[in-house]
Amino acid sequence: MSAHAPLLKVENLGKSFGGVKAVDGISFDLAPGELLALIGPNGAGKSTTFNMVNGQLKADQGSIRFGGEELIGRKPRAIWRMGVGRTFQIAETFASLTVVENVQMALLSHDGKLFSMWRRAADHRRDEALALLDQVGMKAQADRPCSELAYGDVKRVELAIAMANAPKLLLMDEPTAGMAPKERNSLMALTKQLVIDRGMAVLFTEHSMDVVFAYADRMIVLARGRLIAQGKPLEIRDHPKVQEVYFGSGKTFEKIAEKAAEVNAAVGAATA
Ligand code: ADP
Ligand code: MG
Repeated sequence: MSAHAPLLKVENLGKSFGGVKAVDGISFDLAPGELLALIGPNGAGKSTTFNMVNGQLKADQGSIRFGGEELIGRKPRAIWRMGVGRTFQIAETFASLTVVENVQMALLSHDGKLFSMWRRAADHRRDEALALLDQVGMKAQADRPCSELAYGDVKRVELAIAMANAPKLLLMDEPTAGMAPKERNSLMALTKQLVIDRGMAVLFTEHSMDVVFAYADRMIVLARGRLIAQGKPLEIRDHPKVQEVYFGSGKTFEKIAEKAAEVNAAVGAATA
C-alpha cells in the first residue's frame, strides 16, 4: 500500500473497437512518486489505456480521476494543462533545431505562446531549457541540431521536452523501444531519478523485462484487455497467471530477475 493518496484513480475503464474489447473494465491507482509499469503481450490494451488517460481516445465506460478530477470527456490539451505529460518523438521538422531550441519550444508551448512568437524570441527561457537539459545529462550538447544526436540522446531530449510542462504524471509508452540495453537502463535510471527528485508519477510500458523488474515500483499486467495481476515486481514474477499468459508454459521470469538484481545493484551503487 502506498502512503500517498492516489494521484490517478482508474476505475472500470473500458474501450471497444468494433467487437473487440481492447480494454475491458480495468481499475488501478497511481501515487505521486511512483513508477508504475504497465506490461502485457502485444495487443493487450496498453496503448489504448494510455490514450484514454491522455485524452486522445474517449473511453466507453468507467472513470479516470486525476487529482480527484474526471479526465474522461476532456480534450488532450486540457489534460496536458492539468499536468499529465507524455513523451513524444521529436518530429522530423524539429530535428533541424538544436537541442536547446527544442526544449525552449516546449517551454513556450507550455506558456501558451504562439509558434510565431518563437521567431522573435530565440533566447526566450533559454536558461530554463538549459537547466532541464542539465537534468537529463544533455547540457553539453545543447547547441547541436537534434538530427546529429545518437538515438539514446534523442530520447533524453524527448524526456526534457516532456518535463518542460512540469507534469505531475508522465506517460511513457515504450520509451526505450529501439534502444540498446545499456541505453535503456540509462534512460530508466534517469527517469527514476526524476521521479525521486520531483515526486512525479510515471506510468510506462516496456518490453524488456529486466528493465521493468529493475526500475518499476509496482506493475500491472494486462492480457486481452483484462487486468490479470498487479503488485510489486517480485509478486508479479511469482504470479502463475502472469507467467502462463505472458510467456506461455515453460518459461519463467527467474533468469530475468537475476539480471534485474544485477542492474539494481549497479544503480544503487551509482546513486548511493
Ligand atoms: P498494446 O499497446 O498492448 O499492444 P493496443 O492498445 O494497441 O495494445 O491494442 C489493443 C487491441 O485493440 C488490439 O486488438 C488492437 O488491434 C486493437 N486496437 C487498438 N487501436 C485500435 C484502433 N484504433 N482501431 C481498431 N482496433 C484497435
Ligand atoms: Mg502499444
